[in-house]
Amino acid sequence: GNSDTDSKNFRVKLVLLGDSGVGKSCIVLRFVRGQFDPTSKVTVGASFLSQTLALEDSATVKFEIWDTAGQERYAALAPLYYRGAGAAIVVYDITSPESFNKAQYWVKELQKHGGPDMILALVGNKADLHENRTVSSQEAQGYAERNNMFFIETSAKTADNINQLFEVCIRSLVRIDF
Ligand code: GDP
Ligand code: MG
Repeated sequence: GNSDTDSKNFRVKLVLLGDSGVGKSCIVLRFVRGQFDPTSKVTVGASFLSQTLALEDSATVKFEIWDTAGQERYAALAPLYYRGAGAAIVVYDITSPESFNKAQYWVKELQKHGGPDMILALVGNKADLHENRTVSSQEAQGYAERNNMFFIETSAKTADNINQLFEVCIRSLVRIDF
């Protein structure tokens, strides 16, 4: 299955994919540390963060979050990141149609080479920049529905929908109610 269970302790691997600059690292930092650092440096390779959440009845869920970078140049390495992942979060920037195209490339790649049970989430980040929006919510939602993915728009800057994004992934992986 997608999660290893030790009766009440769940462990899940999540991987973030998407064009450079769409905000993958900021999303992870916002979720794990509750921070937004506009001067954060570009990730090289993959960085790994883990976060443990307490559920009811002393159960816990430990996320292993793989934040990736450089797949543009090293696409052959990408399978190393998403192998064994329970969920893949494919991120684009709502102000960048190129990044939305790139997201669709990653979705195809995951559909071909990811595990059959992998949960896929499509994330339109930088929702705070709605005045510069060039990818409509309707278009992205429609694409996500046709591809059996969750869809959510987030802002790592304002924290909008960041917890909801991870909750949606976790809920469907662990099938528990929060
Ligand atoms: P990554 O390459 O996908 O990991 O992207 P980063 O997390 O490094 O973010 C790239 C740039 O986008 C940085 O300058 C961030 O400050 C900025 N950024 C990330 N998320 C948001 C967001 O939600 N809103 C805005 N306005 N900027 C963001
Ligand atoms: Mg990064």
